[in-house]
Amino acid sequence: MHHCVTVNGSSLLFCEVIPRSTYGWCPGERYCSDSQGFTAQRDLVDARPRSYNGRRTPSRYRALLRMRKAKRRTVESSNRATDSPDTLFSKIDAQKTAVKRSLSSAATIVWLRGRGDLRIHDNPLLLQAQRLNEPLFIMFTWSSADADKNYGFGEAQRVFLFSAVDALNRALNMRFQQVIHYVRLSDDAGLEEYLQLFHFLEASLSARTLLMARRYEPPLLQLDMELECTLTKQRKWKVYTHNMHLLHEPWTVAYDGDATSSAGHFGTLLPFWQAWQRNADLPPEPAAAPSTLPPAAALERCEPRTPACCEKPPPLAGDAFVDRTTRCAPFQFVTSLVETGLHPVRPGTKRWDTVLLGSWAVDEERVRAFLRDFLEHRLPLYEKNKSRADLEVVSRLSPYLALGMLSAREVFHATRAASRRLAASERSKTFERRLIWRDLAYWTLYMFPEAVTTPIRSHYASQEWNEDPRLLAAWQRGSTGYPIIDAGMRQLWQTGWMPQNIRMAAASFLVEYLNIHWIHGLQWFHRTLIDLDIAINAMMWQNAGRTGLDMWNFVIHPETSARSSDPTGAYVRKWLPELAQLPNAYIHAPWKAPESVLSSAGVQLGATYPQRIIADLGAARKQSQAAVLEMRSRSMPQFFNADGYDRIRVPVLKAVSLPHERFQQTATADNTVWRHVFTRREFREAPFATHLPHETEACDRQEAQLLPKDSTRAMRGNGDAQAAA
Ligand SMILES: Cc1cc2nc3c(=O)[nH]c(=O)nc-3n(C[C@H](O)[C@H](O)[C@H](O)COP(=O)(O)OP(=O)(O)OC[C@H]3O[C@@H](n4cnc5c(N)ncnc54)[C@H](O)[C@@H]3O)c2cc1C
Repeated sequence: MHHCVTVNGSSLLFCEVIPRSTYGWCPGERYCSDSQGFTAQRDLVDARPRSYNGRRTPSRYRALLRMRKAKRRTVESSNRATDSPDTLFSKIDAQKTAVKRSLSSAATIVWLRGRGDLRIHDNPLLLQAQRLNEPLFIMFTWSSADADKNYGFGEAQRVFLFSAVDALNRALNMRFQQVIHYVRLSDDAGLEEYLQLFHFLEASLSARTLLMARRYEPPLLQLDMELECTLTKQRKWKVYTHNMHLLHEPWTVAYDGDATSSAGHFGTLLPFWQAWQRNADLPPEPAAAPSTLPPAAALERCEPRTPACCEKPPPLAGDAFVDRTTRCAPFQFVTSLVETGLHPVRPGTKRWDTVLLGSWAVDEERVRAFLRDFLEHRLPLYEKNKSRADLEVVSRLSPYLALGMLSAREVFHATRAASRRLAASERSKTFERRLIWRDLAYWTLYMFPEAVTTPIRSHYASQEWNEDPRLLAAWQRGSTGYPIIDAGMRQLWQTGWMPQNIRMAAASFLVEYLNIHWIHGLQWFHRTLIDLDIAINAMMWQNAGRTGLDMWNFVIHPETSARSSDPTGAYVRKWLPELAQLPNAYIHAPWKAPESVLSSAGVQLGATYPQRIIADLGAARKQSQAAVLEMRSRSMPQFFNADGYDRIRVPVLKAVSLPHERFQQTATADNTVWRHVFTRREFREAPFATHLPHETEACDRQEAQLLPKDSTRAMRGNGDAQAAA
């Protein structure tokens, strides 16, 4: 039996469900996780019935009753006029304090979303909850909107996210007797639904404090800001957001391609890195895990259950079903993570997730041990061998950093500490710089919020691309006939991960040789990477696709690059076992092997391993280059400076003082300047549309205010990208 009732006269409705075993989530029950899902545990919640118009009394209402009673007693005692005014005032104060204390049993909500927040160590949300010392309600929400194809979690990453949330739930349970409460939101959950959810928590837990990690993907940032503003302004909530993901947030690194940097072009790693070091303090030291957490807040009523509440109209005459359907809350508290719909593998379908998870650790202690192992054994080899796919010396920390199972601050400081113990020849400049590269990706997304879907060099949108779906499919499935590309793409498919230089080789192959739009590569990586990071993926694909701030100043040849990144052939042999018997001389170019070598290695091109999908790489490259030149010849002149460099519109950063102190600078779409960005010589030297004299002058004046003349700057693109390639 279900009742729908209004909360605080607002339109929010929720259901009181008389305990039913099928739902489980009812007074007297809470849930603990096990590795398979979740089992109900009884008696964690105070289930004593209270009467309030036939319903259970909300705790806030009880507090108000207590306050009224206290007031009445004060008036009564003052009427008796036996106390002196001083005694009377101190009594009133004491009663006020008592009332305050009872009101302060309001719960604190920690809201986890899997964007940098899935850990116990260096977790400012938990530390603040500890300080606030109010009953704690930890919640994880999931909606299909969280799997949005541009800004959401990709399919492979959802598998990883599922295991990470589950592992965190178990750790919280073991260490602090806390559980994560799971909420399934409707498919298109937006601001309205989140507000309903928080109204519900306000009504049922007297919650007025929300702690959450900041998100930086433009629509998510926008949503969080709106939510924060509405809750604080209209509902008097206290909302605290924390940086849990980055070393420095985009608005705290004062970088706008300033005139003092001579290191490289606007938006590339080197000048950003310099600005990062010059303008910002070192990231704060990571904090330890909280020693304790306040007791878990108990939900006193059953949560809204849309199907139960709304789909089955009670057979009462005059009780309008439509009315109930539209008024019932769309979200649902569910008893297990599985029920949130987060896991992408549907029951009864093929379990591709087990292979994917493979050797990845998912619980925090093992992840931190993994970091220690890297610092001890692989960091000393990193600088020299970071581009060797066959040696596996890179950290493989990206999946953990992407979800926040590991704090970037912890990795940064632990690396510095470990480096101090190493001989000078073993120290790595690159590793720390790569962590800062992450910050650059977020800075880029902040400055160019459309970067996930639209070329940053906007004139490149009109470039002609090859639309042949067979070529794209061959690239995706790892059957291009070029072993290093195929090995990488198969590793990606099976494990959700690839080393950096193999990602670069694969991206370069797609764009430069197949002339396929980089957006297809971005989308495929979005779907298949377990370390998917919206900002990094967008930055790297834009750069590979020549439309980003840092157009790559190189094209990666699939055979010659393979000989330097996999000189032993071990990487190709691991992921392409059908080529394992080929001698080193041919492992990266089986088409060059004599028939006798192929047959003794058991390789039959076209049967056991594919023929190359394009044989003449030189001609293919010329074609894609011609497509760029053709697009540039059609583009408006304002998109080039006099030297042939591409120009883009860049938002001007300005200092602002918003109520949120964290915003030191902001970018606005209506205040932009033209800036030139690194452009390859082969494009610059070809004819391009030229400026009319007055346009040239206006653009140059604008740019000169911000940048030194091009000729005084080093003609460098992204040093790290070049080194990695
Ligand atoms: C086309 C393309 C798409 C990419 N998409 C992603 C992505 O979605 N998510 C992702 O984390 N990385 C992405 N990268 C960057 C890079 O390949 C991975 O971060 C790296 O391979 C992860 O392995 P690792 O942890 O061993 O890296 P390490 O070499 O050990 O580096 C340490 C950390 O530095 C950061 N880092 C490394 N390279 C970069 C970079 N180029 N930009 C920003 N940060 C970096 C990562 O957080 C990484 O974990 C992409 C690269 C390319 C070429």
